[in-house]
Amino acid sequence: MAEIRIEGLTRTFGDVRAVDDISLEVADGDFLVLLGPSGCGKTTLLRMIAGLLEPSEGRILLGERDITHLPARQRDLAMVFQSYALYPHLSVERNIGFPLRAARVPRAEIRRRVREVAGQLELDHLLARRPRELSGGQRQRVALGRALVRDPQAFLMDEPLSNLDAKLRTATRTELTALHRRLGRTFVYVTHDQVEAMSMATRVALLSGGRVEQVGTPTEVYDTPASVFVAGFLGAPPMNLLAARIEADGPMLTVQAPGLRLPLWPGTAPDRDVTLGLRPESLRRIPAGDATARDHPGVEIEGVVTAIENLGSEEVAWCDVHGQPVALRGPRPIGLAVGDRTRLGVDPARVHLFDRASGRRLT
Ligand code: ATP
Repeated sequence: MAEIRIEGLTRTFGDVRAVDDISLEVADGDFLVLLGPSGCGKTTLLRMIAGLLEPSEGRILLGERDITHLPARQRDLAMVFQSYALYPHLSVERNIGFPLRAARVPRAEIRRRVREVAGQLELDHLLARRPRELSGGQRQRVALGRALVRDPQAFLMDEPLSNLDAKLRTATRTELTALHRRLGRTFVYVTHDQVEAMSMATRVALLSGGRVEQVGTPTEVYDTPASVFVAGFLGAPPMNLLAARIEADGPMLTVQAPGLRLPLWPGTAPDRDVTLGLRPESLRRIPAGDATARDHPGVEIEGVVTAIENLGSEEVAWCDVHGQPVALRGPRPIGLAVGDRTRLGVDPARVHLFDRASGRRLT
């Protein structure tokens, strides 16, 4: 079993708590992506799992084994780096076979396994080349091959696609997902790229300031962000976040945001400052003269378009809503121009609410 359990893991560098009391479980066969902005502690956490960095506190378990203080080479985990870390003077064949030679595996066996892995990664025809004679994508596959050949219990990857161009990144993402499915092994993968995380992960752990903000499937973290941080990190553009207040309004509770009054589901206490979250794709442009929203007064906001962004198949209209920026995303053409005044329909079922002080999700 290649289940990885992390318990109260902490690593400090002087005053900096790079990883701050993280507990996390990676189930056998999971593709867990550690996602977060630069400096949130992703690499530090991964390097501790790999055995390249000593934790200040806490434990790491692989299956039933406590590996916290085990040297990296005894952990049965393979690490793939952003820089690939290939040996420039060795051929592809010898680079891939390197871990097996180091482990004194018989020559014929090394040859057989290197050929097998090269076949899986479509590197067969490149075995005699040196790394400098390869493209970035091919180098990345050699680095992956060197990890695969050991048949480790789990793969640890630190931004392995970041040196590839956009097209190759997309192709390699698909390949990695297929590889994960084929191997059925545990992957822990570090990135700051939400598209990589959302497209490859079975589960995502969002990190901020050395702590875990939320762990869940890509759908869970996108649809039910646990905090303002998660809401504002995911999505392109990310969720619109507006200062609002919950107030009692006769028999109903309403959320008051500038220009917007929303009836609120029961169970939320009034007189509370909140942050209101609206995904750009959940807003609807109400064409001028359309009366459909009249039955639901207040479930729309009005803004003035300040910029239009062309995303190819879609467009984003940035609007100023009482001084707060709000993005609307929809199929191109979105039918708006800079300077237009527009009404935006808000679906109360797709509103997110966060406590203003703590940033945590309400309801
Ligand atoms: P990035 O995406 O930029 O690689 P990251 O999320 O991987 O960022 P880490 O590299 O884990 O972040 O760093 C977390 C924090 O720890 C940062 O504040 C960083 O400056 C600090 N840090 C990391 N390594 C060291 C070190 N060897 N000495 C001092 N501080 C460090």
